[in-house]
Amino acid sequence: MSVVAAHSASSTEAESGITPGGRSGRFRDVLSSDHARRGKPPVHLTDLNDDERKQRAEALGMKPFRARQLANHYFGHYDVDAAGFSDFPLAQRDEAVQEFFPTLITAVDRQEADQGTTVKTLWELFDGSHIESVLMRYPQRITLCISSQVGCGMGCPFCATGQLGLTRNMSTGEILEQVRVAAKMARDGELAGGPGRLSNVVFMGMGEPMGNYRAVMHAVRQISAAPPEGFGISARNITISTVGVVPGIRKLTQESLPVRLAVSLHAPTDALRDELVPMNRRFNTTQVLDAAHDYYLASKRRVSIEYALMRGINDQAEHATQLARRLNHYGDDWVHVNPIPLNPIEGSRWTASKPEDERAFLDILHRAGIAATLRDTRGSDIDGACGQLAAKHR
Ligand code: SF4
Repeated sequence: MSVVAAHSASSTEAESGITPGGRSGRFRDVLSSDHARRGKPPVHLTDLNDDERKQRAEALGMKPFRARQLANHYFGHYDVDAAGFSDFPLAQRDEAVQEFFPTLITAVDRQEADQGTTVKTLWELFDGSHIESVLMRYPQRITLCISSQVGCGMGCPFCATGQLGLTRNMSTGEILEQVRVAAKMARDGELAGGPGRLSNVVFMGMGEPMGNYRAVMHAVRQISAAPPEGFGISARNITISTVGVVPGIRKLTQESLPVRLAVSLHAPTDALRDELVPMNRRFNTTQVLDAAHDYYLASKRRVSIEYALMRGINDQAEHATQLARRLNHYGDDWVHVNPIPLNPIEGSRWTASKPEDERAFLDILHRAGIAATLRDTRGSDIDGACGQLAAKHR
């Protein structure tokens, strides 16, 4: 059996990208017309575990320890250029790069905003599909927002990515390449403000991370492990967001990793959420909040509640009051609410709240004792809403 075959055999059941709960009932994943018809991306060093890397090196006639050297170049120096592998035999460098670091993502568009402190990149993958990531500098941190699926199957009507439907899951290598390139950009001063260190990674780009659970967790472990096993970004600085896929939240709770969980709630009641977030018809607000609160109890990490404020739909005083009541039901200080003005998509009936409504919404949460911060809409002038750039390139 070839090493590649061994790798696929060692993986658990093939993941289609369809979320747990997305096959039946009143919710089904929205699949794009070319869903899963694209084959698999080339195998990358980061798709393999330690043993598989060594086997692959041996199959290529290299000493097994070379695999660790390659991992060190990748995670420690963000380097996949054979020219820099001075500790590697000259004759084997090119082959090592081809076999362990195939090109998985290629930048096809890059847009800057906020005086160069926000950089959004559109990537083309091996099969011609597109995903996005956004690198953002804040006073105290540098955050990268990454994609975990091509498109998204959750079908939220206000979201550009949701309109694309799900094409396929991304591989661990494709997910991690977004991180490597961003870490290198930050280090090399390609983000306004000078050289810095990528400190935070949020899975809030395209896709539902819980729909690609295995690859996402493999990526999370490698983002957080110290070099040469990973990039050394603390798990506490990694956020996994979900639209409320309860089996995924429960699984994550079992992992005992100190990552932050973010739940995209967007509505305080089932009647309204059924309309805004179709997944709610499968796992309702009570099930989602129960699971989120259990995550808080197990991890001792406050859960983020993401709430896109949409004018006249979910941004009125009654919604803020209902939300506060729902969250306070579980006790104090277990959540942090991030209302964010919707980044509207062209021609959509869903649009951003009025600033006075945003302020009133926030005030009501604060008066009810709930921690809440209005999130800024970084890059709103650069097709900032997730999926807009990719939708344009379709
Ligand atoms: S809002 Fe999130 S979960 Fe809903 S369609 Fe968009 S990317 Fe998917």
